[in-house]
Amino acid sequence: MPTNQHIAEQFELLAKLMEIHQDNPFKAKSYASAAFAIERLPIELADMNRNDIAQVKGIGASSAQKIIELLDRGSLQSLEELIQKTPSGILEMMQIKGLGPKKVATIWKEMHIETIGELLYACNENRLLRYKGFGEKTQKNVAESIEFFLRHKGHFLWAELETYAERIRHILVEAFPSYIIESCGLFKRQMPVVDALEWSTNIPFALLHTFFEKNEFQLSQVDELELTAKGIENVQLRFYRSSTEQPAVVAFRKNCSELFFNEWIGQFQGKWSSATTEEEVFTACGISPIPTYLREDPAVIERYKDAAPIQVIQPKDIRGIIHSHSDWSDGANTIEEMAVACRNLGMEYLVISDHSKSAFYANGLQEERVKAQHQYIDELNSKLSPFHIFKSIECDILNDGALDYSDALLSTFDLVIASVHSNLNMDQEKAMQRLTRAIEHPATTILGHPTGRLLLSRKGYPIDHERIIDACIKNGVAIEINAHPRRLDLDWAWVGKAQEKGAILSINPDAHVIEGFNDVRYGVLAAQKGGLLSKNNLSSYSLTEFTHYLKTHRKL
Ligand SMILES: [Zn+2]
Ligand SMILES: [Zn+2]
Repeated sequence: MPTNQHIAEQFELLAKLMEIHQDNPFKAKSYASAAFAIERLPIELADMNRNDIAQVKGIGASSAQKIIELLDRGSLQSLEELIQKTPSGILEMMQIKGLGPKKVATIWKEMHIETIGELLYACNENRLLRYKGFGEKTQKNVAESIEFFLRHKGHFLWAELETYAERIRHILVEAFPSYIIESCGLFKRQMPVVDALEWSTNIPFALLHTFFEKNEFQLSQVDELELTAKGIENVQLRFYRSSTEQPAVVAFRKNCSELFFNEWIGQFQGKWSSATTEEEVFTACGISPIPTYLREDPAVIERYKDAAPIQVIQPKDIRGIIHSHSDWSDGANTIEEMAVACRNLGMEYLVISDHSKSAFYANGLQEERVKAQHQYIDELNSKLSPFHIFKSIECDILNDGALDYSDALLSTFDLVIASVHSNLNMDQEKAMQRLTRAIEHPATTILGHPTGRLLLSRKGYPIDHERIIDACIKNGVAIEINAHPRRLDLDWAWVGKAQEKGAILSINPDAHVIEGFNDVRYGVLAAQKGGLLSKNNLSSYSLTEFTHYLKTHRKL
């Protein structure tokens, strides 16, 4: 059954295509707002009574009809027709950041440009400037977005591939029960962005060929040791055949970063040739097994030589939910719903951090509403005790680095998460000034999503990581590892460094709906790559420890 997310995406696409084709603007608008409403629905449309769908806020009769069509047929006829009428290059262009339907329509109908490559070329020749709505800045942004898009084409978020990877593995195991199929590569290494799903196997390629052809996958054989297949999901499946070596040994090679593997060969060449599992590779070399996610920096080899294995953080080590939004700002659920769900997950506390007043697009809280929210949280706390809701705010870091409320108001929160949400296009000097000032503010407890990046869609402003980490340590500010799979910001590659220097990290889901709590797991998977220990992760603190931390770090 189509999920809400899928339905919302289809509606969004429909609305955009209608606008591009100048088809009934009134209806296009209503589909766009339906998409917005569907995305935030706390229950799955597929589970709802069909007759109730039209009653949902933000969904009108005509959208409801379309939802039912999608649920019944799996697709929308009007959308299919529009896609048919649109060149594939234009469809691709719609994924470029900064190009709304109006601009895409101008590019297509007035500039007569139908592919991304042509558009990039036109940007370089300053041809966009002649058209209404395209200034120098837009042209520059469009060019940068296209370059970004082209670089990352065919890449996916780890979280986007999780279910698919499991499904493919399941299908293969069923079809080839007597063979070995070992997952390996970037996905196995828990990389936040992945360009293919990889396996090492002893299934003869001839058999894989027949199998995938029968299932209408596109195939290409790279050489006798590598085969790739691609289904309608457009994800590359890559198979490494182990003819002389065992699949596990091939998997081992693919499960190490290049640096790690080179160091390994240098130290242990030839020692593991008879290993049949990855574990045997390690035993043969006299080292306790290093988990796949840690095989990045070769320095980890030394640590595993004489010391006991590192007890890296696990999903079960999360004891509280820090950084979540409610329907007071741009969240979908009430604080009570969030709190009860959080408690049901076995968590000891919830930190509610709605947006501050300058985040008007997210219904940020004006001063009076902060006070009202605090009162409401007090009431809930007496009802839900010993579970505890902490009063927090995701406070905007303003353009000059100041925080979004007076010190007097800021001092009424249990903790403050300071984040940048506006004017993201800045150079490093500006970004550093802004962040440093916010970190030095006595109210700041946690620095939220430090670079503002959105994986595969926005690069994030440039920062000097070392200096930001140092400033956070000096000022007793924890650094967020925003666990949303599109953020994972602070990047794992800096987590180890920050921990080494003595920073406290905080794996936070930034949940906007109850289901968002599940994202903490993605944060943990990324943090594992940095070797994060639970004792250095704020959201692993028990309620008592967390309360103590806040008390000892209070400066306002
Ligand atoms: Zn934020
Ligand atoms: Zn947030």
